[in-house]
Amino acid sequence: MANETNQFQAIISHCKEYGFIFPSSEIYDGLQAVYDYGQMGSELKKNIKDYWWKSMTQLQDNIVGIDAAIFMHPTTWKASGHVDNFNDPMIDNKDSKKRYRVDHLIEAYSDELRVASHENKADEIIADMEQLLAKDDFTGLKKLIEDNKISCAISGTCNWTDIRQFNLMFSTEFGSTVSSEDADNKVYLRPETAQGIFVNFLNVQKTGRMKIPFGIAQIGKAFRNEIVARQFIFRMREFEQMEMQFFIRPGTQKEWYEKWKETRLNWHKSLGIPAEKYRFHDHVKLAHYADAACDIEFEFPMGFKELEGIHSRTDFDLKQHQEYSKKKQQYFDNDLDPATGKPYGNYIPYVIETSIGLDRMFLAVISHAYEEQDLSTPEKPDSRVVLHLPTKLAPIKMAVLPLNKKDGLPEIAGQIINECRGDFRCFYEEKDSIGRRYRRMDALGTPFCVTVDYQTKDDNTVTIRHRDSMLQERVAISELKRIVLESIG
Ligand code: ATP
Repeated sequence: MANETNQFQAIISHCKEYGFIFPSSEIYDGLQAVYDYGQMGSELKKNIKDYWWKSMTQLQDNIVGIDAAIFMHPTTWKASGHVDNFNDPMIDNKDSKKRYRVDHLIEAYSDELRVASHENKADEIIADMEQLLAKDDFTGLKKLIEDNKISCAISGTCNWTDIRQFNLMFSTEFGSTVSSEDADNKVYLRPETAQGIFVNFLNVQKTGRMKIPFGIAQIGKAFRNEIVARQFIFRMREFEQMEMQFFIRPGTQKEWYEKWKETRLNWHKSLGIPAEKYRFHDHVKLAHYADAACDIEFEFPMGFKELEGIHSRTDFDLKQHQEYSKKKQQYFDNDLDPATGKPYGNYIPYVIETSIGLDRMFLAVISHAYEEQDLSTPEKPDSRVVLHLPTKLAPIKMAVLPLNKKDGLPEIAGQIINECRGDFRCFYEEKDSIGRRYRRMDALGTPFCVTVDYQTKDDNTVTIRHRDSMLQERVAISELKRIVLESIG
């Protein structure tokens, strides 16, 4: 555990030192669980976003994207169930006054049991917790905490309050457009992007002439007033989701659910991250809208945790919006039902949702990529920190480094950059020794470094250095673009 914690701390420091992630408004000591992406982080994040967007829209026959507003009519959140149900059971320690999410408190205890090799006991406690959560049995949950003497990390005591529900939505007032006499003049910052898709289902279906089955994808900010907001960008109060709602004929949900589980896992594996870093976790406690649900969990530095959710949402959302808006949310299916020989006719579609946190994906990618390598030889101690990012995600694809600041070498480097920058992101650096420049590029995850030297002036060749193997080869300048583009894939 100590090593995992050190590794996690090292990744957090690395993210700050190299311009990936900064605490929000840091000069005012930051804002808990809110982070800013820096010059490198915003590139990496955008590349992850683009990779998801392309594979979920451009490479699909029947999925289109939208960009809905963060503010939505307040009734949306009544219809979706968020006003009444978007709660987490919380418990406070009376001595330290620290508040915990009940499932997190019990999970942290079970992690400790695992470290102490009491796996069976840990599994038993998690199974009991899931059953009690499924029944909203707060008395039973409190007893589970007390019986196992689960204590507060700060006070060390087991002096707990009763368990209470806490709504996670942020709200604000909506200017002068809503009457102050209206008791319900709150608007919410959306806690998920999905509802922006549901309320636009018919707009997209009609204007896009979409035929079921089809999907609507969206990337956007979501906000949750997380109580226990820790673990860096794993759990934030402002974060980004990449969601897709796939509208299907009722009765076909099992088969589509399985298909999307497989498709999404393959997407993760296509980034070259080994399969054993992922696992499925089926939900025992289903959300109010679901008839099946699972998480794709990833092995983060702090253990296996949810990265993406795949939910069979039935017709719950569209039905609710139909009821609350009094506008029909139906689709007319003129395909013939083989059982009756007649068109399937009107129905409210069922939905399979895939929902992944962009920030969590960022954390998964960077924590898997991060390595502290010992390069010592008997003659000399040496080490480097390297980010083994896939080329398609790396913020900088190619750094061009003139050996010297004079003799026309910077000009040649400039020409190389000008030829390539339209196709991928290049970076110019002339300060420090070549060795130090290589190390800096390793730490940023730059897959290729190109060195321009005196021989370049004679024969138009350069040295290209490969980040992971550190191998160097001499190639013609005219070859560079092809090499990098091939690696981007
Ligand atoms: P958790 O159990 O970790 O709170 P959740 O089950 O509430 O997550 P969903 O509502 O299914 O999460 O949201 C879909 C995805 O959005 C999650 O798989 C996760 O990647 C991401 N996500 C949810 N909450 C946060 C958060 N507070 N910070 C960062 N990402 C989040």
